[in-house]
Amino acid sequence: MPLIDRLSALPLLYAVVDFDNSDAAWRRYDFVTARELFKDFNVSARLYRDAFEPMLLVGLFAPGEQCSAAATLGMLYFFILAHQPDFDVVWCRGTVGEKIFRPWVERIEKAGARVLPNRRVTDLIVDSNQVKGVVCGDEVFDADAVIFAVGITGMKKIVSTSPSLQSREEFRNLSNLGAIDVLATRLWFDRKIDIPRPSNACFGFDTSTGWTFFDLNALHDEYRDEPGTVIEADFYHANQFLGLSDEEILVIVQGYLATCIPAFRQAKIIDSSVIRLPQAVTHFAPGSYRYMLPAKTSFENVFMSGDWIVNRHGSWSQEKAYVTGLEAANLVVSYLGEGQPSEILAVEEDEVHIQVARSLNQTLRDLSKSILPNFWLP
Ligand SMILES: Cc1cc2nc3c(=O)[nH]c(=O)nc-3n(C[C@H](O)[C@H](O)[C@H](O)COP(=O)(O)OP(=O)(O)OC[C@H]3O[C@@H](n4cnc5c(N)ncnc54)[C@H](O)[C@@H]3O)c2cc1C
Repeated sequence: MPLIDRLSALPLLYAVVDFDNSDAAWRRYDFVTARELFKDFNVSARLYRDAFEPMLLVGLFAPGEQCSAAATLGMLYFFILAHQPDFDVVWCRGTVGEKIFRPWVERIEKAGARVLPNRRVTDLIVDSNQVKGVVCGDEVFDADAVIFAVGITGMKKIVSTSPSLQSREEFRNLSNLGAIDVLATRLWFDRKIDIPRPSNACFGFDTSTGWTFFDLNALHDEYRDEPGTVIEADFYHANQFLGLSDEEILVIVQGYLATCIPAFRQAKIIDSSVIRLPQAVTHFAPGSYRYMLPAKTSFENVFMSGDWIVNRHGSWSQEKAYVTGLEAANLVVSYLGEGQPSEILAVEEDEVHIQVARSLNQTLRDLSKSILPNFWLP
């Protein structure tokens, strides 16, 4: 990237400083699209096209004109801009289900709880302002407290079948939120292919889809000694692919991989899995913040968790889902007056120059607020 393009990102530093993840900052930036934000701060067309938009396509799963500027600044700051020496991402050495969820479920069961898969929550039994039971079709489970840990699409489905949730505005309003289609593929090739980096973010293959591919021989213990190559390729904002057959999808994926690493062209796919995930990931659309729920709801004993729940921790995606889960569990501990709250590690502190710039900016904001009337559109 030429220096002049990189330099064009400098004015954006003001937005990075100004967006401190507070409620006020979210409200200031959430109505603006990411594309407008970069345009307003005079980012060059090339820097936007070749750097920021690809980051959005894989970080917020959508092109810039469909992403909230607040979410953009939050995501970019957490994953990329804060603490420049370390890109804050780690990869699991196997599938998350196997490595994290299975042992976790075993621990829950050892502690005496039952995990009931294949049950879909459909409603809540409410008495005054407290939930007394959770309905799953024709079964009812007594409940002292409830934590929802479902994505936006799942939550919208639950609300649609639940008269008790529909009676609350905050839950009715969830129909203003949306989600994005994802396509997840895994391909087994008949030969070893030299892949320079284990994880790769790709863009520019079509206008609105970002994709990532991972060398699972390098990342997952179980594929380390495979004679062939095992690749995971995930496509975000993949709506245009979901209607294709598996065969059509595999031809496209192999073609894309071959564009990145030509040796894929000659290799043969000997096994594959294609998983279509319609409406699977959170869409941080402009204007969506006001409909996203905090951990505490208007019911005394119903709490929310997930990567779309509003909190002030600063993390994103899986880490945020985990943190909001702990926060919700801590709220239950405090509501019931029983159990040990979990310790939640804060994200690393801002670098000193950012701390100083943020405090200066806040002082100026407070000053201008005291002088100027609250008149203009934020
Ligand atoms: C292909 C792909 C790759 C990704 N890669 C990354 C990555 O590399 N790093 C990262 O940080 N994030 C990544 N993400 C995003 C990450 O998966 C999400 O941020 C995270 O899973 C959100 O967790 P959650 O608990 O909020 O929701 P989910 O993981 O969606 O869990 C919700 C659960 O609720 C269940 N459910 C839904 N409806 C009901 C109901 N009525 N009753 C009972 N249960 C119900 C669902 O079955 C599901 O198990 C990726 C997502 C996808 C799809």
